[in-house]
Amino acid sequence: MSPLRGTAAALAGVLLLTVGAAAAEPVAQRSSPAPGLPGAGDGYFPADGNGGYDVVHYGIRNRMILGQQRIVGATTITARATGDLSRFNLDFLLRVKSVKVNGTPAKFTRPGRHELRVTPKQTIDKGRSFKVRVTYAGRPAGIGWAGEKSWIGNREEAVAMGEPHIAAYWFPSNDHPSDKAKFDIRIEVRKGLQAIANGRLVSRRAGKKMSTWHWRADEPMATYLAFFAAGRYKIERGRTRDGLPWINAVSREFGPTRQRRAMRFLRMTPRVLRQLESWLGDYPFSTTGGLVTSLDVAFALENQTRPTYPFVGGRGQTSLVAHELAHQWFGDKVAVKNWRDIWVNEGLASYMELLTDGWGFRSPAAWLRHAWGASSGSVDWRLRIGDPGPARLFAPEVYERGAMAAQALRNRIGTPDFKRLLRSWVTGRTHGSNADFKALAEEISAEDLGSFFNAWLYTGKRPARTAENGYK
Ligand SMILES: [Zn+2]
Repeated sequence: MSPLRGTAAALAGVLLLTVGAAAAEPVAQRSSPAPGLPGAGDGYFPADGNGGYDVVHYGIRNRMILGQQRIVGATTITARATGDLSRFNLDFLLRVKSVKVNGTPAKFTRPGRHELRVTPKQTIDKGRSFKVRVTYAGRPAGIGWAGEKSWIGNREEAVAMGEPHIAAYWFPSNDHPSDKAKFDIRIEVRKGLQAIANGRLVSRRAGKKMSTWHWRADEPMATYLAFFAAGRYKIERGRTRDGLPWINAVSREFGPTRQRRAMRFLRMTPRVLRQLESWLGDYPFSTTGGLVTSLDVAFALENQTRPTYPFVGGRGQTSLVAHELAHQWFGDKVAVKNWRDIWVNEGLASYMELLTDGWGFRSPAAWLRHAWGASSGSVDWRLRIGDPGPARLFAPEVYERGAMAAQALRNRIGTPDFKRLLRSWVTGRTHGSNADFKALAEEISAEDLGSFFNAWLYTGKRPARTAENGYK
């Protein structure tokens, strides 16, 4: 995510959370069937995700009725039980009409607004794969949960984009980045409108009044990175020099000049990807692109394979594209284990911005010297960016001081080891934490970096300007 400059405060307002406490329930045991836990164990957001199963695939079929800002849908989840399950939870905010497990109607209750508790007719044995089909309807725009109202849309256009919470507003899920899955997303809209989502466009079928856009994410994806946009969009497609297919979309709610500028903005994608690949190795997914919405959003988001952006004028453009594309490695390919690990996403994505755009400095090292020396009140050193807390997850300090920590580490271990570290981090790994990143940095550099990481991530004050802390 990238809060736009000047709007960070507004975003922080949206993110003032009251964390919903999950009801205490017994832990699943092996000996006898037991309920799956109602949370994935994330200290910041205890109600997010669930226990007892792993999702393999989401098949989402939603009709988006823009005029009524209403969703009518059915999602089929294919999952594997990780224990003998007497019942399990899904995370969801819309009104549920029916639930079936393996084709048989199942009992369901709503122990909290965000929880859908499903009791199948028969217990599900550990290791077994099972299918859950949920049908539902509702108006996501009217929903608030945990101090947030994440849905963005009006009668002309809707975009499901948000972090960490957006999935529950449009499909039932195991809503935590620790459980990635593949997706088929089918969005039905009025004929003449467009629907865009992650991955590749499998088909577009037009009926008499409605048309269905079927998108497929071939690579496993965290639930918050799944998205769709519905409305009047201009779509362009092509291939990069390396043969990677891209699809870009711009809202036709903009006038012609803005549409052209937004398209030009999205066309930077292949060039910026090449720059990032020179640092990080091959782009991790089989398709790319981007979408610019006309809706009033104060941030851009790294939706997997197809980031979504608000319209930005002429400034800060390369930086914004670089940030969201860097997230394709840091956040999307390698997801956070828990939300407290946000630094390893946002700090590194911000650092890749610096490497790509320069931020007006002669070198990244020169930028670090400037930022570190700044005695003005522009940098708040009090926040412990390695564990910022749920309300400050996307605080500006996580980004700016996060990027500083990355350059300081590069100074400390040297560019060759630093480059090896980044490449190794994004290769053959689906999840990672701040602690994992530190461990890998120590392994690659053969140095004890305990006090370095402590100074940069876990101390609420400005690191002393020493060689040990990466000052040079
Ligand atoms: Zn970001």
